[in-house]
Order: sequence, then structure tokens, then C-alpha cells
Amino acid sequence: MKQIENYIGGELMPPLSDDYLDNFNPATGEVYSLIPDSDERDVESAVEAAKTAFPAWSATSPEERFTILMRLVALIERDLESLALAESIDQGKPVSLARVMDIPRAASNFRFYATAAMHTANESHDSVGHSAINYTLRQPLGVVGCISPWNLPLYLFTWKIAPAIAAGCTVVAKPSEVTPVTAYLLSKLCIEAGLPAGVLNIVHGTGPKVGSAMVAHPEVKAISFTGGTKTGEEIAQIAAPMFKKLSLELGGKNPNIIFADCNYEEMLATTIRSSFSNQGEICLCGSRIFVERPMYEQFKGDFVSRAASLKVGDPLEADTNVGAIVSKPHFDKIMSYIEIAKEEGGTILTGGKQAHLTGRCADGWFIQPTVIEGLPFDCRTNQEEVFGPFVTIMPFDTEDEVLSYANSVRYGLSATVWTENLSRAHRVAAKLESGIVWINCWLLRDLRTPFGGFKDSGIGREGGFETLRFFTEEKNVCVKM
Ligand code: NAD
Repeated sequence: MKQIENYIGGELMPPLSDDYLDNFNPATGEVYSLIPDSDERDVESAVEAAKTAFPAWSATSPEERFTILMRLVALIERDLESLALAESIDQGKPVSLARVMDIPRAASNFRFYATAAMHTANESHDSVGHSAINYTLRQPLGVVGCISPWNLPLYLFTWKIAPAIAAGCTVVAKPSEVTPVTAYLLSKLCIEAGLPAGVLNIVHGTGPKVGSAMVAHPEVKAISFTGGTKTGEEIAQIAAPMFKKLSLELGGKNPNIIFADCNYEEMLATTIRSSFSNQGEICLCGSRIFVERPMYEQFKGDFVSRAASLKVGDPLEADTNVGAIVSKPHFDKIMSYIEIAKEEGGTILTGGKQAHLTGRCADGWFIQPTVIEGLPFDCRTNQEEVFGPFVTIMPFDTEDEVLSYANSVRYGLSATVWTENLSRAHRVAAKLESGIVWINCWLLRDLRTPFGGFKDSGIGREGGFETLRFFTEEKNVCVKM
């Protein structure tokens, strides 16, 4: 059986414990590789390697960093097909999606920050009347920790690593133990690209053992984390008293607000995507769909029939729309929310059941796209994150009413608004409590824009120069002339 290895100090190596965890293929339910069950000793060696690499790496010019990172981009693009296949097998997503979204975005992340590092500038303040000038230095923090989740494995892993390295930091990173394979393949590409030893170190293993050892390590100056709100809370409890910089991208329960004057066809097609892409396992998926009452019945009929016609299938087949749920525990969680929705009085309009496939996927974890109606905005189903192919639909009458529903949850990551009324679009966007608002679109990303959540969806923003600043410490120098 294939064994994944840690990447520490430029070399691939087994965990010090020599213990491994099972890695499952969610489409077949089979164990198909083994992951290092690393512990704090592996984290210690990784931090040591990163610390050793820091003086030389932080002294490289932006052009040198650019050159190495762009070699990595070329290698990711060269291996697009094999990386997409690996991501699909490991995560359960359709390979067709990994090919156009996950892997190209991983390359874009490195390209974006390789170039951004060459375009940074710092401020100076001319202290007129004092014959002095102040200037700001932004110096890389040192060793930083990056921890990522399982839903967009290589996409989100590189979204943290790329700016950290481009800023001159050295990194200890941990992918999710549920989806470790593309991070392992990336470590091989880093070796091939000539990334100096210790600049990036990847330690595989569980959150409680590896993740928490990274967070608690005094030499790790900042933690960039994407994952669940509960885990974010645990990380903050350890890191905050140590005064570490923290970037936390957490859970969501995103509203999708549809006014009756929208472009109907575009809204419908996009709402199918924003509900069920990646099996609904995108932190930005809209899971609470509010529809203005005059259009509600029409929307309900069309949306349910399109959701029911999506093909739940083998992730490796070209025409599959919805693949496998990432793990058995996550499958059980989603199924338990279907039961909760029923207990709360919801009506299942379509789905609501495990999808049983045949052949090699007979034992995989598949769920039919599920649409539920008849639930109040404040019940558990409409307040808690489910993170699966699972949405509720609800009618509304007024703008104020829908805003109060949309903003009623503890989360505030993203929201989508559909209307052709320009004034209303801006008015609603301004009042939504969420870090990202899409008007008449969804998942249209520009990497320069601030990305992050309000309320329990996190703290800090990723994207653009903001992330480069996160991985640096500002220092003001005042010179009297
Ligand atoms: P998770 O919180 O269980 O795990 C995320 C990562 O944290 C994994 O690598 C895990 O091993 C690690 N971890 C777990 N416990 C830890 C601990 N005590 N200390 C340090 N690290 C620890 O999340 P998940 O189930 O992998 O991912 C799904 C969640 O991620 C959802 O809530 C989703 O909304 C969220 N998410 C948010 C964004 C965003 O940008 N805001 C993006 C994607 C996913």
C-alpha cells in the first residue's frame, strides 16, 4: 500500500513514530494509502528545519523567490491531469471539477504571490516641521504555521503557503489528514523546483497531535488556519495568550437571496452550482435559499427538478455532477441533519437519502442532492453548518424581513443576492453581515480582493497584499535629519 511521507528539511521521510493512519477513497470506501501519524517530535524537526532555513530565505530577493515559485507553477501545470486525478480520488469530488478549479487555482495561488512579492512597497511619512522622516519596514515573521481543511485540499493549502513563502517566511504546514495526497505530491514538486531545504515543511497527521503542536510551538510566530469554527476556537485559546498572529477562516451558513426581478435563467443555473458544487462542500456554498414570494412556486418547481436531474456518480466519470462525500463521519453528519430537518417539520422535496451506486462505487459515500422546505429561519437546520449537498428553501415578502433571516446566524462568510434592481442590490449588500457578497454571480474570485468572514466565520482577511502583510511584522523607523 502506498505510504505518504512527511517533507522536512527538503527530504521525504517517515514519521518518527513509524505509525500510520488509513487514508480512504470516499468513492469506494476502501483504504488506499497510509498517512504518517506524526506527533510533536516531527513538528519539532520541521520547526527546526524552518528556523535553519529562515535567515537565507528571508534574505533572498523578490526576483529569486519569484523564479523558484514560478518553477513550481510550471510543474503544477505540467502535472495538472495527475494532480486532478489524485485530488478526485482522495476527496471524492468529480475529476472534471478538480481539473478546472482546484489544480488551476493552486497554480494561480503561487503565480499571484510570486508576482505580488515583486510589487510591494512600504510607506514613508515625511514629518514636516520636525525635520524627520518615518519609514515602515515590513519584515517576514520567521517560521509560520499553515493548517488547511479537506474540502479544497491543494487549493486552500497553497493559498496559505504561497504568500507565506513569497513574504520571506519559512513554513511548517499541515494538510487535512482526510485529504493528504496532493500536499504530498506538492512536496515532491517543491524538491523538483529547487525550493531550498526547510523553506516549506509538510507534516502529516491529525489536528490534535500535529496541528495543536504547531499552534503551541513558541517558535511558530503566526498561524494561518482554515477549517471549522470549533477548531478555530481551540486554536485561538492556545495561540492568543502567546500573542501569535492569527488568521482564521472558519465555517459558514451562507444565505442566497433571490428577488423576483432577477435574471431567472442565470440565477437558476448558478444557484444549482452554488448549492451542489463539490457536493456542497465549499465554504462559500449557499445553503439557505430565500426566494421572494411571487417567484417562490416557480423557483421551487424548476430548482427541484434540476437538482433531481444532477448525476450523482463515480467521480472519475466525465458526466458526474455530484461525487462522493469526503469521509464516513462527514457522510453520517449530513445524514443526521436530514433527520433533524424532518424532526423539525421540514418536507424533503428531493433527495434526503443515500445514493446507492453500483460497481466499484457500491460501498462509497454518496448522498442525493437534497432540497428541503417548510422550516423556519431560526431552527437548527437553518442555523447550523451542514456542509453537504443539502439546502433549504424559504419564501420571503420584504427586504427587511429577508435581511433579518439572512443575518440571524452566528456565521458571516458569504452571501449571494439576485436582483436587477441596482439600488436594492447595493442597499442589501451593505446591510448583509458577511465578508463577501456576490451580486448576480457566485464564486467569481479575484485574488486581489479581501477574503474572510464576519462574526464566527473568522478573523482576518486573506487575499491581495493583505496576506503578505499578515506574514510580516511592521516596524516604523524614525530618522531625524
Ligand atoms: P477542521 O477544523 O476539522 O480541520 C481543519 C484542519 O485543522 C485540519 O487540518 C485538521 O487536522 C486541523 N485541526 C483539527 N483540530 C486541530 C487542533 N486542535 N489544532 C490544530 N489543528 C487542528 O475542518 P474540516 O472538517 O477539515 O473542514 C471543514 C470546515 O472548514 C467547515 O467548517 C468549512 O466551513 C470550513 N472552511 C472554511 C473556509 C473559509 O475560507 N472560511 C474554507 C474551507 C473550509
